[in-house]
Amino acid sequence: MRTLYRARRVHTLGIAPPGEWVLVDGRHVQRVGAGEPPSADRVVELPGATILPGFVDAHVHLSATGLALEAEEVRAAPSREALLAIARARAEGPGEGLVCLEGWDESAWPDPRPPAIDELDALTPRPLVLFRADGHVALVNRAALASVDLAGAEGVEHDAHGRPTGRVVGAAQRLLRRASSSNRSREQVEGLQLRAAATAAARGITAVHEMSMPESDGLRDLEVLLAHRDRLPVDATPIVATTDLPLAIALGLSAIGGDLPVDGSIGARTAAVSVPYEDGGGTGAMYLDGDALVSFLHAGHAAGLQVGVHAIGDRAIEAVLVAWERVYGALDSRARRHFRARRHRIEHVEMASDDQIERAAMLGLAASIQPAFDRLWGGPGGLYERALGPERAARMNPVRTFLSRGVLVGAGSDAPVTPLDPWLGVASLETHHDPAQRLSRLEAVGLLTVGAARLGHQEDKKGVLQPGGHADLVAWPVDPLEAPEVEGLRPLLTVSLGREVFAA
Ligand SMILES: [Zn+2]
Repeated sequence: MRTLYRARRVHTLGIAPPGEWVLVDGRHVQRVGAGEPPSADRVVELPGATILPGFVDAHVHLSATGLALEAEEVRAAPSREALLAIARARAEGPGEGLVCLEGWDESAWPDPRPPAIDELDALTPRPLVLFRADGHVALVNRAALASVDLAGAEGVEHDAHGRPTGRVVGAAQRLLRRASSSNRSREQVEGLQLRAAATAAARGITAVHEMSMPESDGLRDLEVLLAHRDRLPVDATPIVATTDLPLAIALGLSAIGGDLPVDGSIGARTAAVSVPYEDGGGTGAMYLDGDALVSFLHAGHAAGLQVGVHAIGDRAIEAVLVAWERVYGALDSRARRHFRARRHRIEHVEMASDDQIERAAMLGLAASIQPAFDRLWGGPGGLYERALGPERAARMNPVRTFLSRGVLVGAGSDAPVTPLDPWLGVASLETHHDPAQRLSRLEAVGLLTVGAARLGHQEDKKGVLQPGGHADLVAWPVDPLEAPEVEGLRPLLTVSLGREVFAA
């Protein structure tokens, strides 16, 4: 079955010049061209539209995104009072047992103090857990502390009198996540993943790198995804945050680690930094370090896998670089070439110094960045400046430096941490807080198409419209490469692997 998509313009983003139509045969692009179109079984006329390759989001958590979409009002809550009102309504709603809300973010509240445990106790007798948007902090009431076994896990915060404050981070926070996910049925998990994938398609995304988090979501979350991924509207490639090599190999995956945390986040003050936080939170946390980190990276590389880790703070990035330098240093020159070609990934890599970027480039490491972090938390007066002071905050997320030093960069949303919205990513790169780091429209689009595809070793199939590549294409009502503004742009039609998965 051959379908011809006819538009005003087709940007291939490859070496082929712009065309006017794309001929799709099944899952693949057969031809892109201009002028008289070839015959087809079916013609889809898109007058005035511009077709681009589908966006690839290199860092997504599907189930958590589904949860966040269910709770969009949580993120939009403009104050502590508004958040508490939503939590009360949810607790009074149907169901019993644990009540979980996902996605609160106090950084724009007039009074950024999150709710205290007494306020949460007053809301409901049911166990209540409120996960912060960054995925690294939870707020709980005493019923939740009593009902979830957190014994022995670090991260339950206590005040000077030894009473719990309701704030939970680290291992205890991940146990809360596991408790909240094991509460869900298989059908609910499928529904969450489907909802997230459908939203991705509705925003012009045709492929995602799914950052599977078995420690917090349980392995079942991954099993559900693997069982129905062919039916999802976007092409989802799972990367599992585990050090269990036999598991990744048994699942037939070509990568491991992904969002495996070496440290935490700036928002939770758990990103590992070399100089203490400005607001008194210490120097963050290291969850994987030293010989354990080296042996994981070494074993993953030796097994032929692409290995990724999550590292945000400069101290965590340093640990990852030192570990990779030890692995690399033991290789001969031919093995070093193969090492570099593997494109081992660092997710986030937000506080990289010029020296660290240079060393990443020497190792052939790839940067998987989230441009909207800068939009949401960078710049004067933002969360990063409050946590780290103006000098360190000013140097964060140096995307232009990565590119100019020859580091492979791909981009994603880290949804639900930031919205599944590639144009927000593009606009964030165009308006980076540091004018010297800003990208052009075309460069920014490149990070979310071919750049992200290259992170997944998919560049011969995705990110570019070319014969033999995947039929992953999106029709837009304006030409996004020329439009003055692209933020908020929504597709007319999204095609993923030849399937029309969204139509306006
Ligand atoms: Zn991460």
